[in-house]
Amino acid sequence: MGLLEFDGEPLTWEKLKPYVEHVKTHGIQQFLHNYRRLMQRPGDILKWGDEVEYMIIKFDHTNRKVQLSLRGEELCEILQEKEKKKMKNLTSLWRPEYASYMVEGTPGVPYMGYMAQFNVVEANMKMRRKEVQELLNDDEQIVSLTVFPRLGCIDFTYPPHKITGPESNPVSRSLFFPDEAITSHPRFPLLTQNIRLRRGKKIAINIPIFKDTNTPSPFVENLNDPESKAAAKPDHIYMDCMGFGMGNSCLQLTFQACNVEEAKLLYDHLAPVCPIMLALSAASPLYKGYISDIDARWQVIAASVDDRTNEEMGNEPLKNNNNVHGSHMKIAHANSKVLHVIQKSRYDSIDSFLSSNSKIFNDINLEVDEEVKSTLLNAGIDDLLAQHIAHLWIRDPLTLFSKKIDLDDENEADHFENIQSTNWQSMRFKPPPPGSSIGWRVEFRVCEAQLTDFENAAFVVFIVLLTRVILTYKLDFLMPISKVDTNMEKSQKNNAILTEKFHFRKNVMTSQSPACCAQLCSFKSNCTEGSGKYLFVNTISVKTCLIIYKLTCFKLISLEKKLLCSISEYLNLIGKRASGEYMSAAQWIRHFVTSHPEYKHDSVVSDSIAYDLL
Ligand code: ADP
Ligand code: MG
Ligand code: MG
Ligand code: MG
Ligand code: MG
Repeated sequence: MGLLEFDGEPLTWEKLKPYVEHVKTHGIQQFLHNYRRLMQRPGDILKWGDEVEYMIIKFDHTNRKVQLSLRGEELCEILQEKEKKKMKNLTSLWRPEYASYMVEGTPGVPYMGYMAQFNVVEANMKMRRKEVQELLNDDEQIVSLTVFPRLGCIDFTYPPHKITGPESNPVSRSLFFPDEAITSHPRFPLLTQNIRLRRGKKIAINIPIFKDTNTPSPFVENLNDPESKAAAKPDHIYMDCMGFGMGNSCLQLTFQACNVEEAKLLYDHLAPVCPIMLALSAASPLYKGYISDIDARWQVIAASVDDRTNEEMGNEPLKNNNNVHGSHMKIAHANSKVLHVIQKSRYDSIDSFLSSNSKIFNDINLEVDEEVKSTLLNAGIDDLLAQHIAHLWIRDPLTLFSKKIDLDDENEADHFENIQSTNWQSMRFKPPPPGSSIGWRVEFRVCEAQLTDFENAAFVVFIVLLTRVILTYKLDFLMPISKVDTNMEKSQKNNAILTEKFHFRKNVMTSQSPACCAQLCSFKSNCTEGSGKYLFVNTISVKTCLIIYKLTCFKLISLEKKLLCSISEYLNLIGKRASGEYMSAAQWIRHFVTSHPEYKHDSVVSDSIAYDLL
């Protein structure tokens, strides 16, 4: 996303509702103009880049307390100065993120497709960290931490903000997360408020607590708000607003494909890798000052932006009133009598593959906007892409600014991006923005942020290599997409990589001819379940291919020894995470807290434990 701009008044849900259809219809027209212009776009080269989200923390050494410092916006202003002066060849680019204790950093220019760039990844991450650190006070630190352990506890921000009840926070109505910790750029509070208003109630996130010997049973939080009391589940950590999810950090990667077909291929074959990489990168066992029973943030964010109404959730019968909530009444649920139940939050794993060979693995009933689908089909878009877009289009726009309503559909894409960018899925298929030199891209969005640049670089380099190997050796990672969903659920569990069994292809080396895929259709015999270790054996065979690949395409022979070393160190880290020889960040954090001398075996992460941890 570019520098965040806005024009005019931010429209709250009541004012936005009359424009829901307008945004959606024009968004599709914008997509079509763009697609027609760019579908034949030939031969782009590999370009890629990472995004790391950071938090700013502040230590109070006297009281052994650590807080989130609400300086993200102020820092971002400074960090963006060079870009705003249109200076070229910058080391880094900076964006505000959801919470005002966050900033997001990317390399200044995307990396190109040759291996020598792998040396730069970690170095660039180090420079980014340094760039921010130099702007901080002595007691502050920039951290690439997925979840702040005491997010939502009393005085977790600096400056602190007192909350007396939901009325303290008119935007989110949270009992825990002050509106002041939401970045003030109107997009963020508007999203927060409109998600809540469309949903018809507060956000409710319930995460199972890790039950230790002194944890009360049942574990019930003392909540002084009837809505929260009703929403909180016993034996769960209850969180009540968008900040608990979007206020977490992650590590993302975007690749440019050489054309639209290659982009679809990468999108499809990387989707089954998402749950595995989520489990390998798991870094978040602590929520709101408690130890949870999960290791990864995914379901927390999914729930934090869940704008589905009671009806869409299937909790209430269909009301025959088309005006209640935007346009969702139109949605036809394929093969089902229920007309408007939506299975997932707008933040979740993808629901369909895109390339024609993958079609038989699309075994999830997909909710689509039928009108949008037929518009796309009539315009000559292939059925899988049409279905994908029509599925994204079951969601309503959540933000709109009064001076950005009537747009030039041929040359602008804001309405398209509006819906596209608020479908936060595991993979994102990114069409080229109009009027730019950028090609078809896909984004890999699941990894948790690792604490060190070395680890973040390892994940980035591994995934980039994996894309090269998938393309060169035509590896086949396809499997029924419902199984990918099952894997996503498993991947967030406590120590999932070692304790869970995941579905994966038995043979990733098969050719992709449709005939072959048809045989693979009998899932039981061709999809296997394995523990992380077993699974990684498959991926390790990828590593073997990698070596061959290195020699051929990347002209590795001519590369410095140093580079070879760092790549093998990266692969070593990932491999040992998979085998259990190295702990995941989540397991390390869990272990640190539970073996801390001040820990009372009551699932509580106190201020001083959090201080020592960080
Ligand atoms: P978003 O927030 O939409 O995911 P960002 O702009 O924050 O996107 O990050 C995009 C990432 O893609 C950055 O790492 C950037 O270096 C990289 N990138 C930029 N241009 C290209 C391109 N043409 N092809 C591939 N990646 C690119
Ligand atoms: Mg970004
Ligand atoms: Mg981000
Ligand atoms: Mg307040
Ligand atoms: Mg991104």
